[in-house]
Amino acid sequence: MKTFCGRANPTTGSLEWVEEDEDYDYHQEIARSRYADMLHDKDRNMKYYQGIRAAVSRVKGRGEKAIVLDIGTGTGLLSMMAASAGADFCYAVEVFKPMANAAVKIVEKNGFHDKIKVINKHSTEVTVGPDGDMQCRANILVTELFDTELIGEGALPTYEHAHKYLVQEGCEAVPHRATVYVQLVESKRMWSWNKLFPVHVEAEDGEKIIVSPSEMENCPGVPSVCDIQLNQMPSSDFTILSDVVTMFSVDFSKPVRSASTCYRVQLEPVKSGKAQIVLSWWDIDMDPSGTINCTMAPYWVKPTSAFQWRDHWMQCVYFLPKEEQVLQGQKVHLTACRDEYSVWYTLQKPKQIKIHCNDPVCRCQAHLLWNRPRFGELNDQNRTRQYIKSLMNVLKTDSVCLCISDGSLLPVLAHYLGAEQVFTLENSAVSCSVMKKFFKANHLEDKIKIVEARPELLTSSHLEDKKISVLVGEPFFTTSLLPWHNLYFWYARTAVTEHLASNVTVLPQSAALHMMIVEFQDLWRIRSPCGTCEGFDVQTMDDMIKNSLNFRESKEAEPHPLWEYPCKSLSNPQEVLLFDFRKTVPQHCLSTEGSVNLLRKGKSHGAVLWMEYHLTADISVSTGLMQISNEKGNCEWNPHCKQAVYFFSSVIESETLADLPSAVTYAINFDTKTGEILVYWALSDILADEDSKPHADIR
Ligand code: SAH
Repeated sequence: MKTFCGRANPTTGSLEWVEEDEDYDYHQEIARSRYADMLHDKDRNMKYYQGIRAAVSRVKGRGEKAIVLDIGTGTGLLSMMAASAGADFCYAVEVFKPMANAAVKIVEKNGFHDKIKVINKHSTEVTVGPDGDMQCRANILVTELFDTELIGEGALPTYEHAHKYLVQEGCEAVPHRATVYVQLVESKRMWSWNKLFPVHVEAEDGEKIIVSPSEMENCPGVPSVCDIQLNQMPSSDFTILSDVVTMFSVDFSKPVRSASTCYRVQLEPVKSGKAQIVLSWWDIDMDPSGTINCTMAPYWVKPTSAFQWRDHWMQCVYFLPKEEQVLQGQKVHLTACRDEYSVWYTLQKPKQIKIHCNDPVCRCQAHLLWNRPRFGELNDQNRTRQYIKSLMNVLKTDSVCLCISDGSLLPVLAHYLGAEQVFTLENSAVSCSVMKKFFKANHLEDKIKIVEARPELLTSSHLEDKKISVLVGEPFFTTSLLPWHNLYFWYARTAVTEHLASNVTVLPQSAALHMMIVEFQDLWRIRSPCGTCEGFDVQTMDDMIKNSLNFRESKEAEPHPLWEYPCKSLSNPQEVLLFDFRKTVPQHCLSTEGSVNLLRKGKSHGAVLWMEYHLTADISVSTGLMQISNEKGNCEWNPHCKQAVYFFSSVIESETLADLPSAVTYAINFDTKTGEILVYWALSDILADEDSKPHADIR
């Protein structure tokens, strides 16, 4: 069955009706899922297996039959572990139909079909009794329903229900317990993801400071979790203010309450500083004695020898509603509040006993307009300097300036740097409202005119019948996911052409798409087949992922913030396409082809693509590679942007360099009508095995 879905094209801005296959969603779900990453998580798998074996033998030791309930069975892995460990019977519950089907196949293939019953239901729909899904209540409860925040995937309500209806009192649970840890830190870098710092502008008539509205200063931000690979955060980017403390723990073998609640701990700062951020992670004990422990603790807490890379569980960054000065040795209270699905934090000095348990809700709207990386980008002073320098180059005292970007500070910069008149085009009600507040706080309401219109609906009267002499954009648009989606600027520029003076200056004057072949330290795991996992054949899952990856759009590039995922370059970065914003978008496609020389030995896991904006002839900003930091090829990426990654479905492993003149060839096509970029890759025949050939054209 086909359905039509309406959506705005992120690059061209036009509203389109797209025909979607009804299977589209679940192919996306499978292709982008974390199942592969979980199956590659050796530490997790091993510890689950140990915990399950121990639980089965405790039950058997009591002379009881071991009846297992595995909620969220996925591939069936944990049930197969239980059956191998001697469980008498397993009920494997999985709500997601394609996964439940896969579990049936995998269980069958591994010879456990008489021991494991797959139930394709949400656990709260499962019935118990002679005619029910389960014959009787289970005495072993196994689950893996955790996200980086522990409870974000609904583990608490699921456990609450399971204890009431599906398992026996005093059952064994694997994991037995989860514990959430916190550490208080000061970090300008992380704080810059939630607050806008004053922006300093050296103008000809002295220094100007752009400040944020007070509403924004005091806004607690949005409640969505900020989960990152904290292990990629260098210790120089934060200052530890407290020891690691236990915030709360949940015993999964006892009835669980999911209702909202608060936990409070006392902290004694080990250092004076500004308390801004609560870093948090959890561990799970697979057995009651706590000898089988799986932890997400970051590098400075955990001995490095036990390190396991994983992307399905990371660490959390929580922003305190406002920063508080704390003094070494002077105790403070930290409160964690949670509802069924999320956690947030507040800090109290000893005399402040009143605790506000309200979850954070953005009142200033800026947190709705700018996500956390965008806040970081706006606070990046080096970047701002490049824009200031280039604006100074192009602005004249009679410049009439139009800014096209979502919620950008460029209009303010342009005003301070001497433009005679500044207009800013804001596409959404939210960006209009935030910019209004911003201009007001800086007394610029009558200096910068906000035009709330789409570019194609811009009229001369919006511009007070003036022609634009300087058109500026960062460019940044909230609808962009992949680097080239910000080419929307080019389409907008084309749409406003009639309002531009004949000698208009466009800033950025052009954008260049760059590409490089890389070897990932770890990220390759999320798209790599697993084969067997703890001795169980899970190839069915690999095939399913491969099939979904081959499904239409799923073959497209994936956005990843590569500062979190170390990689080394195997080729030189190269410019592959240039988009000239001084001209309008051409009618014809832009295409190119070529080959890439591999310069270093290593595994070519994929290609990374990013944009560089040439603000003026000699000032550029990169949204991707910042530099290759050493002779090993380690890359440093823009910390505020996601790059586009194409994973190759077969890996070229170059042992020697002599025979690698052009191991990877590519053809890239930018369809100016649809705004889509298609890349065809071909891996050299000598290097890639037969198996890889069908994937030689990765769309
Ligand atoms: N147990 C597997 C997969 C874990 S992923 C493993 O450890 O490898 C979690 C799975 O639980 C997902 O497939 C999700 O669809 C499923 N799930 C989450 N909550 C559920 C619930 N309450 N009932 C049934 N399935 C659930």
